[in-house]
Amino acid sequence: MKLAVYWTGSCGGCDVSFLELGMGLLEVLSRVEIVFWPALVDAKRRDLERLPARSVDVTLVNGVIRTAENKEMVEILREKSKFLGAYGACAHLGGIPALANQVNGVTEIVFGPGFRPGAPLGEAAEDAPPELLPEALSLDEVVPVDFVVPGCPPPAGLIARFFEAAFAEAISPGRIFAGEKALCEECPRTREDRRLTRIVRPHEVQPDPEKCLLDQGIICLGPVTRAGCGAACPKGGMPCTGCLGPTPKAGDPALAMLSALASLVRAGEEGESAFPEENKILDSLVDPIGTLYKYSFAKYGRPLLKLARKRQEVRA
Ligand code: SF4
Ligand code: SF4
Repeated sequence: MKLAVYWTGSCGGCDVSFLELGMGLLEVLSRVEIVFWPALVDAKRRDLERLPARSVDVTLVNGVIRTAENKEMVEILREKSKFLGAYGACAHLGGIPALANQVNGVTEIVFGPGFRPGAPLGEAAEDAPPELLPEALSLDEVVPVDFVVPGCPPPAGLIARFFEAAFAEAISPGRIFAGEKALCEECPRTREDRRLTRIVRPHEVQPDPEKCLLDQGIICLGPVTRAGCGAACPKGGMPCTGCLGPTPKAGDPALAMLSALASLVRAGEEGESAFPEENKILDSLVDPIGTLYKYSFAKYGRPLLKLARKRQEVRA
């Protein structure tokens, strides 16, 4: 199998995640011919451009699409590949880097006024950094994507499942290599009192090791996230932050989770008199966008952004 792996706007964790296969990696490497994988073998853009169209069997792209160069590279990879997949949460949903879409002019805020990425740097214009796109994008907003191996980074079991399907030539279009059901279904923690009387952050409490974290007031996205990692984070004492992406039933993960929270939150007696207190509990959720759209803001956050900008205009 001719394989290409490419990294766009990424932390590098996805490239490293293949090591999670352990000894299984040896078998994978014995069955693939690496035609392009800059993190592993020296290859340049011109080498990729020389390949005939559709000569790569499978390409895995990890990372968010953030620069003009990212966009050009994945367009070339698309042309050269029979199957092209989003590997990891950034390529799948925009990932953590796409939270920057909340802010206009993010580079000026970070690097200071007047900073223009992509502008010629004196004599060294050839080495200038690539132009930033106005927004961080998920891979499927730029090129058609055949399949997804989700996660931040993808867990070993799902990587193995993907290679099994690829070697058997059984990658069906649109396939997401994770479960359709919610993560709660594979979580060993016990769920009892589905009443939320407070919201706390993980570092503020010592949670009971057996009980559901959400029942203890810690925002865990298990009810709206795809199963497939064996509930790795709740098993380790931390809430699920949604890296495998939302279940088909949940759709927009933040809206689905807000809806769940609104029905779980309870303050004192039932009825309208409890609403102000219940609102206070919901207001204590710190950084709702970063919590509920941690990996998926590029994909699902746009209507919210539009609304916020419209409000700003109206206020102005
Ligand atoms: S800890 Fe999270 S994943 Fe486990 S049952 Fe509770 S909400 Fe679901
Ligand atoms: S528990 Fe949630 S955040 Fe953790 S690996 Fe699984 S899907 Fe990702």
